[in-house]
Amino acid sequence: MSTKINILVVEDEKNIRNFISTTLKNNDYKVIECQTGSEALSISTSHCPDVILLDLGLPDLDGINVLKSLRSWSAVPIIIISARTQETEKVTALDLGADDYITKPFGTSELLARIRTALRHSTKHSPNKVFRVKDLLIDFDKRLVSVQNKEVHLTQIEFKLVSLLAQNAGKVLTYDHIITSIWGPYADKNNQILRVNMANIRRKIEENPGDPKYIFTEVGVGYRMIEDQDSMHMS
Ligand code: CA
Repeated sequence: MSTKINILVVEDEKNIRNFISTTLKNNDYKVIECQTGSEALSISTSHCPDVILLDLGLPDLDGINVLKSLRSWSAVPIIIISARTQETEKVTALDLGADDYITKPFGTSELLARIRTALRHSTKHSPNKVFRVKDLLIDFDKRLVSVQNKEVHLTQIEFKLVSLLAQNAGKVLTYDHIITSIWGPYADKNNQILRVNMANIRRKIEENPGDPKYIFTEVGVGYRMIEDQDSMHMS
């Protein structure tokens, strides 16, 4: 029998906490619950959870400070639970090392998908050589992108952008993270050049760039590539 995956749920709102716990337990995860930031820090040390779901608005500490403190010693996947109004906090959290965020209210399938993605990224050692989803195929070694078996010609920057998003498929990458990864830490943090490149990529790979099916915009936060088929079939 395999050991159950252990998830720490840090949430002070009882209804949400119960909803998350029940969902996770029904899906064969082991759950530890707590309501404050200080409990979260001590339980993380004593129980070594495999994933932490962290609410930002906690009664004692700010969730952002809990995240900072955890990240100073632990690489455990952390998924932020945020309210829709906390857009800048989402960005801050992702840039401080949170793996993902989920916006209230959310459904069970979204919650479970986020957890699977976070777990997959934490255990993945070498990136796949090929990314395939729907009609899109990216071959990282051959530096080749095709849609419906037709090769798409991307510039070098465009290819780097698509690869970065595909290697982190299912996970939102912030504007700053993408800009730093592609153009380096001294790049101008102006999003304009990123937006122009993304528009060009969408024109080349999306059937309808206004209603993309591969790369989604997370408004005010960044971009997210749809999960590849292999990982969707996993677990
Ligand atoms: Ca709260």
